[in-house]
Amino acid sequence: MSTTPGSGGPLVDGPADPEHDPAAVYALEPDDVAALTARLVSTTGQTAQVNTPLTGAPLAHIPQSSGHDVAEAFARARRAQRAWSRTSLEHRAAIMLRLHDLILERQGEILDLIVWESGKARKHAFDEPLHVALTARYYARTAHQHLDARRVRGVVPALTRVEVNRVPKGVVGIISPWNYPFTMALCDGLPALMAGNAVVAKPDAQTMLSALYGAQLLEEAGFPRELWQVVAGPGSQIGPEVVDRADYICFTGSTATGKRVAAGCAERLIGCSLELGGKNPLLVLRDADVERAAEGAVRASFSNAGQLCVSTERLFVADQVYDRFVERFVARTQAMSLGATLEWGTDMGSLISADQLATVERHVDDAVAQGARVLAGGRHRPDLGPFFYEPTILEGVTPGMTCFGEETFGPVVSLYRFHDEADAVARANEGEYGLNGSIYSRDVKRARGLAAEIKCGTVNINEAFGATFASVESPMGGMRESGMGRRQGAEGIHRYTEAQSVGDQRLLRFAPMLGMSDEQYARMMTANLKLMKKLRRA
Ligand code: NAD
Repeated sequence: MSTTPGSGGPLVDGPADPEHDPAAVYALEPDDVAALTARLVSTTGQTAQVNTPLTGAPLAHIPQSSGHDVAEAFARARRAQRAWSRTSLEHRAAIMLRLHDLILERQGEILDLIVWESGKARKHAFDEPLHVALTARYYARTAHQHLDARRVRGVVPALTRVEVNRVPKGVVGIISPWNYPFTMALCDGLPALMAGNAVVAKPDAQTMLSALYGAQLLEEAGFPRELWQVVAGPGSQIGPEVVDRADYICFTGSTATGKRVAAGCAERLIGCSLELGGKNPLLVLRDADVERAAEGAVRASFSNAGQLCVSTERLFVADQVYDRFVERFVARTQAMSLGATLEWGTDMGSLISADQLATVERHVDDAVAQGARVLAGGRHRPDLGPFFYEPTILEGVTPGMTCFGEETFGPVVSLYRFHDEADAVARANEGEYGLNGSIYSRDVKRARGLAAEIKCGTVNINEAFGATFASVESPMGGMRESGMGRRQGAEGIHRYTEAQSVGDQRLLRFAPMLGMSDEQYARMMTANLKLMKKLRRA
């Protein structure tokens, strides 16, 4: 292992061999790529080249879809959905459980593809099949609970019987980002299928292969091939084509694009869920276990090189533990191993692209130029791969700096000291976002109390983000400009259904009977209302 001078100390590199070239060890077979891309609806004859961020080398040529191809994908999906919506929940759940097993069996191939396409460390890629398997099992096991027709109270007991049905929306459009290319392409679609819908997926252009491999696994598990269509192309062109045809949109990506998608959905009066950006705070309280908090802060800030919607970019640390925490956090960060490899064993991989690297450099350079101090990292590492950037800790970040309020979406975290917990919560709540917050404290009851004050869709206590994100029964999503709607749990499946109430009325009509006048009828109904209240009926 070689050591290199970082701004605040040495950072340990990953691969022991400086000549290590992952491309020489692993290769994607052209036939495998062709089998995957054959699933795309594409008649344009045009392709777009994607490169692996590990080395910058070309990875595949992805056929591109046109507006006409998107229309064709929707036509196929609609045909498939009609038959699918008549299948039993048992049938769907059995396929979902086969998918669970298949994903665990094919884990090696899945991880290779994810690492190839995204450049992330293998241990961060592992979170993806794990999350899809958990989601598949959860919705298979809870299908009846969420989807069975539910009897509700009728207005006149015994004479009015009402049931609420869960009717599938139809064809759901799923627009997903590159950062978790396998699970973001798949996990939101599983409850859509479970509820009787079809899907047209538009994954990010940089990570089509992971998404296409997911589509292949769905078919192998037993879902009809036509039920899950995939289209490809630049988001700004193909995304609106999907929005224009879907019955519901599930969008994951930036807040700026999410607003455009929401406007498109509003125009058509279709529903949408939006999983958007964040500038997530982590609070280390005065009674925190400092070692545990430092370990958690590393995962919170640098998982997937910080390209994670729920990762921490702002760390608020109590005065009483500030120095001890910072010393442990910096030491742990500087000990992280970085490397371009498909193997296990590195702590952090590459950023996805030159654009992402440029944003990270812009944020750090701007902060440093305005007086922020770099306690660890702060450097591009082209010696490891074209887009590598060191995990970076900043101190002295002030409101005028770009990284104070803007999402970096990279391995950069700012440290802030606080004296008073109420002040820390107020500062954590600053800005437009509200995705995830984390609190480290030995007093869990007090931390739960503080959690209620934090304006975020998820709050994790003594954990970075995993406690809520991996608990797929709990809804996950953002408050404020971090999103609308929720994935996971009951909300995550009900969004793909229309609640349809069906009532049947026995004997009594909702009109005067037996020669009653309208006035007599009104008097009888008034007496009835009073009686019902006395009897404590709803
Ligand atoms: P992005 O908004 O640029 O792209 C996301 C998706 O939208 C891609 O598939 C893209 O092709 C598509 N797209 C682009 N323009 C479009 C348009 N006009 N209409 C329809 N679709 C369009 O986001 P990104 O930079 O790829 O992803 C990073 C962002 O995603 C970050 O802000 C991150 O916080 C957020 N994110 C949020 C979650 C969450 O669950 N809240 C999860 C992952 C990522």
